[in-house]
Amino acid sequence: MKVFVLNCGSSSVKYKLYDMSPGSSPAVLASGKVERVGTDTAIITHRQAGEERQVTRPVLHHYEAIAMCLAMLAGDGAAGKAAAVDAVGHRVVHGGELFREAVVVTPEVKEALRQLNDLAPLHNPHNLAGIEAVEALLPNVPQVAVFDTALHARMPPHAYLYGIPYELYERHRIRRYGFHGISHKYVARRVAEKLGRPVETLRIISCHLGNGASVAAIQAGVSIDTSMGFTPLEGLMMGTRSGDIDPGALIYLMAHEDLSLPDLNALLNRQSGLKGISGLSGDMRDIEAAMDAGDARARLAFDMYEYRVRKYIGAYAAAMNGVDAIAFTAGIGEHSPRLRQQICANLTYLGVRLDEARNASATGEAEISAPGSTVRVFVIPTDEELVIAQDTVALLNR
Ligand code: ADP
Repeated sequence: MKVFVLNCGSSSVKYKLYDMSPGSSPAVLASGKVERVGTDTAIITHRQAGEERQVTRPVLHHYEAIAMCLAMLAGDGAAGKAAAVDAVGHRVVHGGELFREAVVVTPEVKEALRQLNDLAPLHNPHNLAGIEAVEALLPNVPQVAVFDTALHARMPPHAYLYGIPYELYERHRIRRYGFHGISHKYVARRVAEKLGRPVETLRIISCHLGNGASVAAIQAGVSIDTSMGFTPLEGLMMGTRSGDIDPGALIYLMAHEDLSLPDLNALLNRQSGLKGISGLSGDMRDIEAAMDAGDARARLAFDMYEYRVRKYIGAYAAAMNGVDAIAFTAGIGEHSPRLRQQICANLTYLGVRLDEARNASATGEAEISAPGSTVRVFVIPTDEELVIAQDTVALLNR
């Protein structure tokens, strides 16, 4: 079965075509992305059969972007054959309370997704646009929606409710949903495979540290708590997002800085985090470089970032009454040995012992805990597209 995996963002479309034939490991036949969708100068980068092609041209909406990807995939001759698509798997950010696992897209599912647009206005409408584009371009090909919230859908109410009047949960579904579930699922599965134990027997803390960042407590393969909440703003301090902040401080700021709702939104989502504290950048590479050059605010931003991750690890060890493995993934988790070192150096009380040399030289998947460490520590490069392809096949073969 050839599965086309699509991740449609506000101004980008990323895709991968997998051969998911039974009996052999999944193979990536082609991959690529369209950036700056909605402009006259969109950039299409396409990789197939060991070659990369880049084209710049107007791409005004998702339909056009996906039509271009499919045309690139089809090519001619042998490549054309390889491009035949049997199923499409979409990343959908928000499944609300309705979608607790992946679903085959039907008219009813689409309508339900439309109802969820309000919960994730920056993501879900684009995911839906991708689904509708594929419907028009590949009318007989089944489509599956795979949700970033699904892994967290079994969180217990004591973890997902906020301490506000219960009627507000009933009326507006104000609760914690959690995100990055597709990535956390991949990480937990790989950790279990590396430990040679069923995921059902493990307590795993997965740290997805990219531009957006979250930590998840995964017990018996299910997320029982995670740091992102009603929106992807709660929890860790991120590149440009504040993470946890006393809501009382926001009430005070709105009163004293005359902030409007859009101002507040921009402040918390785009001007805060590493960027807001350092005054330099929301990119961890810039922060580490500035820190090395002696910049005190960059150092502070780094220390705050690290401290928050460590606090959440401690909290989730408490939530699960212990932890068997901790894993780091995404841009910062995979590529900042300094951050991992600083976090783990302060987790000795849990039984974490880092192997400094392994941590410093880790590339790709690696165990970075020392022999004898009670808690095993790993770096696991995430692969969300693979999970989407696998969930798509599993669902369609049911
Ligand atoms: P996204 O959430 O957009 O998918 P990524 O997972 O690519 O983001 O993570 C982006 C973050 O990873 C940025 O803060 C970037 O600085 C950081 N990063 C990438 N490479 C390195 C590196 N070598 N050292 C430190 N941070 C890195």
